[in-house]
Amino acid sequence: MDLYTQLCQDIKGCQRCTLSQSRQHVVVGEGSLTADVMLIGEGPGADEDRLGRPFVGRAGQLLDRILEAVDINREEIYIANILKCRPPGNRNPQDGEAHACLPYLRRQVKIIRPKILVCMGSVAAKYIIDPDAKISRIRGQFIERKGFYLFGTYHPAALLRNERLKVDAWHDFKAIKAKSLELKD
Ligand code: URA
Repeated sequence: MDLYTQLCQDIKGCQRCTLSQSRQHVVVGEGSLTADVMLIGEGPGADEDRLGRPFVGRAGQLLDRILEAVDINREEIYIANILKCRPPGNRNPQDGEAHACLPYLRRQVKIIRPKILVCMGSVAAKYIIDPDAKISRIRGQFIERKGFYLFGTYHPAALLRNERLKVDAWHDFKAIKAKSLELKD
C-alpha cells in the first residue's frame, strides 16, 4: 500500500480524541498529491462532516470563487485542515484535539511536499506559524522555514462575516499564485 493510502486509512480509523465519536465523516483533505500549494483550514464544518470533503460549504464556495479569480485550479492544489473531524457546533479546536491531529497533517506535508503552506485563519496560523499569531498582523507575507514558504491569510468564513477583508484576501491569493509561478522556474 502506498504511503498516502496508508495515511488515509489511518486517519479514517482514528480515535485519538473524542471528536471521533461525534463525526459523520472524517475529512482527510483532497487535491493533487504533487501540489506546490497546500491550503490549511481549521476543521470540518457541518457540510464537510456530512460529505467527507474539505471546504464544500459556504466558506468553501467563496474559496472556490477566490481561487478561480486568481487562476488557481482547485485540482492542482491540496486542501487540508488542522482537524480531520468536526468540532461540535463548529467551536474552535481544543489544544489537545489539535495536537492529537497534527501528526496527520505533518504526514500529509511529508508525502505531498508542497512548497507553500497557506494557513487560512488564526487557528491554522497558531499551530503552523506562530502560537501568538494574529492573522491581521502576519497575513500577506511569506515566511521561509525549514524549506517551506509559510503564508497566512484570512479564513474564508471571516470574509463572509466581514466583506471589507476581501480586498486583502484577494491580494494574498494573487501573491500565492505569483509565488507558485516563481517557484516553478
Ligand atoms: N472551514 C474549515 O476550516 N475547513 C473546512 O474544511 C471547511 C470550513
